[in-house]
Amino acid sequence: HLYTKDEVRQMVKDEDIRFLRVMFTDLLGTIKSVDLPVSQLDKLMDNKIMFDGSSIDGFVRIEESDMYLYPDMSTWLVFPWGADHGKVARVICSVHMTDGTPFSGDPRNNLKRVIKEMQKMGFNSFNIGPEPEFFLFKTDDNGNPTTKVNDSENYFDMEPADIGEDCRRDIVLALEKMGFDVEAAHHEVAPGQHEVDFKYSNALEAADNIQTFKLVVKTIAKKYGLHATFMPKPLSGINGSGMHLNMSLFTQDGKNAFYDENDKNQLSETAYHFLGGLMKHARSYTAIVNPIVNSYKRLVPGYEAPVYVAWSTSNRSPLVRIPNDRGMGTRLELRSADPAANPYLAIAAVLEAGLDGLRNNLPPVHNVDENIYDMTVKERKNKGIVNLPDTLHSALKDLADDEVIKSSMGEHLYQSFEEAKTREYDAYRAHVSDWERQRYMEQY
Ligand code: ADP
Ligand code: MG
Ligand code: MG
Ligand code: MG
Ligand code: MG
Repeated sequence: HLYTKDEVRQMVKDEDIRFLRVMFTDLLGTIKSVDLPVSQLDKLMDNKIMFDGSSIDGFVRIEESDMYLYPDMSTWLVFPWGADHGKVARVICSVHMTDGTPFSGDPRNNLKRVIKEMQKMGFNSFNIGPEPEFFLFKTDDNGNPTTKVNDSENYFDMEPADIGEDCRRDIVLALEKMGFDVEAAHHEVAPGQHEVDFKYSNALEAADNIQTFKLVVKTIAKKYGLHATFMPKPLSGINGSGMHLNMSLFTQDGKNAFYDENDKNQLSETAYHFLGGLMKHARSYTAIVNPIVNSYKRLVPGYEAPVYVAWSTSNRSPLVRIPNDRGMGTRLELRSADPAANPYLAIAAVLEAGLDGLRNNLPPVHNVDENIYDMTVKERKNKGIVNLPDTLHSALKDLADDEVIKSSMGEHLYQSFEEAKTREYDAYRAHVSDWERQRYMEQY
């Protein structure tokens, strides 16, 4: 709902709101926020809040650092937790230049740009249903995260086993108060691991929701003395955390463009071409949907995460699964994405991949219904099945060669992303780890 200025002023009065938290997202997906006293409300609504862009990762250089925050009033909501000094309302902003133009280095503006391309092709919305997973870890006496999970790890554990469950229930309640339509919340495969699913929405709202979701999870976990992490693979040897992205296109007249009741899979030409784009560009958008060094420790065989570029209507192992739902629920599920991804960049990248499939009538290659993990290297080779990149370095190389996926970010974002991620990978490569010492110190 887009509130008018008067409606907002009235809400602020009625709910006794004292602070305004204005939020945006940087290149790496980190939420940035500025707190304003409520006296600044009119200035905010008039797009007059300024900040120093040179202090934000991947934004601008010192000499062009003045930027403005334009609030998107449709994202207005009041945090459900009580603050000691009065209630806090938040609003998500877009970043603009001094001359009023949208800043192309703002991931949210960039997603809006790609959505407009999609709308020019005749679709009304790109729908995203995310399934973010996370771990709850205990904190130590100083409040720092440990690697101990909150639930009882074995049958004789004397601690109450349900702090994690209580915490998750509180998370769901907070989300519902904030207007989220929570569809399911459950314990995941690994100890201490949870998933909360909320209803799909259009791409921009879904990206905003993912950011809000992370903030809520971390805030509530803290109240329980727990640390919530969206790091993709916090513990070796057990399942990592993914963020499956369910996606579909709706037409102007409100129909699901992926559904065709006459096809053998009840999928439309649009769905097949979109899928073709997801297959063709898989290795290069991986750098964006799995953006950190640690992401690649999740994408290994044996832990329910995908490793091969393939799709299936019947099997959970490939990169893209087509769940059984049809009609309005017809969708493609990308299973590689993880919650370290900047949701604005990730959604723009998969949308651009799919649109490329539509523009060029790409065929839906790599349909594999048998278990790919049971196939030999030769069988995979004969079927033309390639692996996802096995390191961030390898993914970045594929991205560098893919003009379509680079265009999903635009020049400014791609340059900043490439620089930041190369630095990150180089720092990792230069680090000598415990694993190496344990393995080699005595052997050599
Ligand atoms: P899984 O079976 O993979 O665990 P979930 O039930 O956890 O799947 O999540 C399914 C997600 O797909 C939900 O977020 C749901 O709202 C979303 N979804 C349903 N229909 C669509 C659609 N047409 N387009 C995009 N997402 C959809
Ligand atoms: Mg799920
Ligand atoms: Mg389900
Ligand atoms: Mg799951
Ligand atoms: Mg899923």
